[in-house]
Amino acid sequence: MAEPKGDLALIGLAVMGQNLILNMNDHGFTVVAFNRTVSKVEQFMQNEAKGTNVIGATSLEDMVSKLKTPRRVMLLVKAGQAVDDFIDKLLPFLSKGDIIIDGGNSEYRDTNRRCKELNTKGILYVGSGVSGGEDGARYGPSLMPGGATDAWPHIKDIFQSIAAKSDGEPCCDWVGPEGAGHFVKMVHNGIEYGDMQLICESYHLMKDVLGLNQDEMAQVFDDWNKSELDSFLIEITRDIMKFKDTDGKYLLEKIRDTAGQKGTGKWTAISSLEYGVPVTLIGEAVFSRCLSALQAERVSASKQLKGPDTKKFSGDKTKFIDSIKQALYASKIVSYAQGFMLMRETAKELGWKLNFGGIALMWRGGCIIRSRFLGNIKQAFDKNPELSNLLLDEFFKAEIQKCQAAWREVVSTAVLYGIPTPAFSTALAFYDGYRSERLPANLLQAQRDYFGAHTYELLDNPGKFVHTNWTGHG
Ligand code: NAP
Repeated sequence: MAEPKGDLALIGLAVMGQNLILNMNDHGFTVVAFNRTVSKVEQFMQNEAKGTNVIGATSLEDMVSKLKTPRRVMLLVKAGQAVDDFIDKLLPFLSKGDIIIDGGNSEYRDTNRRCKELNTKGILYVGSGVSGGEDGARYGPSLMPGGATDAWPHIKDIFQSIAAKSDGEPCCDWVGPEGAGHFVKMVHNGIEYGDMQLICESYHLMKDVLGLNQDEMAQVFDDWNKSELDSFLIEITRDIMKFKDTDGKYLLEKIRDTAGQKGTGKWTAISSLEYGVPVTLIGEAVFSRCLSALQAERVSASKQLKGPDTKKFSGDKTKFIDSIKQALYASKIVSYAQGFMLMRETAKELGWKLNFGGIALMWRGGCIIRSRFLGNIKQAFDKNPELSNLLLDEFFKAEIQKCQAAWREVVSTAVLYGIPTPAFSTALAFYDGYRSERLPANLLQAQRDYFGAHTYELLDNPGKFVHTNWTGHG
């Protein structure tokens, strides 16, 4: 029998799987392709994969027999039960030291569980975040692998070859144990929600306070994209502003204002509540989507609930546009600081060692939140890998300080005009809370003790918890 040639098998021939296979093929790897509905293998081989070195498989057994050892099998299937089903079906054909990689959007806890279960069987399990959508998968995604560390030397070459590059460095590195890769991907998606919300609030202010038209806003986003805000999301927003429908009218105005969501932003918000980390901006971004979805209620309420009586904006428009830019930048710094706080706390709770600078680099290219700004975050963690909070890095401290007055001006103007800016506002509230030596939680503790005898700690006697009979009644 001929020596097996396959470097890696990929199961799941929907858009992501097909594109990753073609990307791997471009980089000189021989991929064996398989899919639950086997007829799709033949279709793929005769169309997209025609003329490539991709090998089609007719069954899981056939697929595994075509792989070099240790065998590397990657799943790009619907997250959830499909992953467990494939793992169960694969196990009889695999041996100790073989590797299963899940590249789907799995919940990190599922990955924790699968990693532990497969470890007992000697199979190295990897859960990898894959970001960048279909284009990224085809030409260079951001890859965030984590799980059984012994798998990394066997997949590093393939993963780093096919990943996006930023300043020549691959946007892919080992994230950490168990579900760390999927966790970091989840936080990435949450941050994406936050970035999008901040841009939407900027648009809302420019449109409804300043009365800018879409060409003017496209110009603003184009200018911002040449600044510290340079990013994929600002770039596509500029293009969206300019886009005209076949009738010559702007398409954006015709789009229903109810946002959808697939759940990863919500998962990030749930994790932040679970680990007790104030990731307020992502939370607000998720809630903003929920509020937008209540369209019928909003339309009805808009006819009944009055806002402030505001006059036409009479200030300096150019100056206010610059203030919005600074508010966006400062809020974005807070959002990333919160995201990294969540990763730090989760890592502590679960005993993971995460490389934060490496995470910033993985997000620097290939993915939806790619931006120049992530280079500054990488530098902050390179300078001090133990940095407790991004806001305390000298660079970011100075940047926030520069933006602070404009940021406050934007939030207060939004309040006066009745324009909702939940992400700008919560970022500022977080900043003010985080920098407060003393918060009113002393009163909160007193209230808790008053109605529930929960006790409180005295400032001048740390560690001593006491209860007071606040009413003086027995
Ligand atoms: P998808 O629509 O999420 O999944 C389709 C694939 O899953 C097909 O191969 C399908 O096989 C298989 N599948 C579905 N249910 C199954 C089941 N019960 N048992 C076995 N196989 C089953 O495909 P996708 O959009 O390419 O995404 C693949 C994974 O990557 C997902 O986890 C997704 O969340 C993640 N992801 C997607 C993107 C994106 O931009 N689309 C980006 C990053 C990550 P059949 O052909 O037999 O139905």
